[in-house]
Amino acid sequence: MGISKTDYMRGMQCPRMLWLDAHHPELKIIPPEVLERLDKGNEFGDKAMGMFGPFTEVTTYLENGRLDYNAMIQKTKQCIENGTQVICEAAFSWYGNYCAVDILRKAEDGYELYEVKNSSHLGEQFIKDVGFQWFILNNCGVRPVRRFVVLPGPSENEPYLICDISEESKKYFTETANNFWRLFKIKKQVEEVTCDTGEQCCKPYRCWYYDHCHKTE
Ligand code: SF4
Repeated sequence: MGISKTDYMRGMQCPRMLWLDAHHPELKIIPPEVLERLDKGNEFGDKAMGMFGPFTEVTTYLENGRLDYNAMIQKTKQCIENGTQVICEAAFSWYGNYCAVDILRKAEDGYELYEVKNSSHLGEQFIKDVGFQWFILNNCGVRPVRRFVVLPGPSENEPYLICDISEESKKYFTETANNFWRLFKIKKQVEEVTCDTGEQCCKPYRCWYYDHCHKTE
């Protein structure tokens, strides 16, 4: 695979992180609290799929339990051709570069993109994440007319807070365009990427290779 959304986000935090993910993932140590946070995020994401009523989820697995990206991409194409109103985990690939959109919702003037995050605040990295998705979709010929981040709402009666980031995401569309092929090359290169440890090791997230890099300094 080329660059995925995860690759992009991690590569923008640190190029060495992206390279290690691609070439030595066995070196990462994911803390249990992070796994717990990811599980809770998945639960919230599953619940949010129904926030606009009936939906079609294209998630498909291979026999080995891994995601079947090709099947998901084909199902998404079919849904778009059929005019499906709400597509969840809508999958797109452009020259092997991949992303899945949490919720793609058909409006009168085009599709709206929704990124679901189980977070108490609207982090800048979420907007960056949407900028990447927008870039891939655009190159696949699906131009999301508006873009949103969905956070947990204030109460059971208002379970979702929908933040319109259509304007803010524009700069990250451009940032993706400017960095995309640089990260692509880093992921594919054979020689190890080296860079000094620093602020990026803990910002915005503590790196899973922290022990590896700080031990080998
Ligand atoms: S620990 Fe720091 S230098 Fe090493 S991969 Fe992570 S962010 Fe990069």
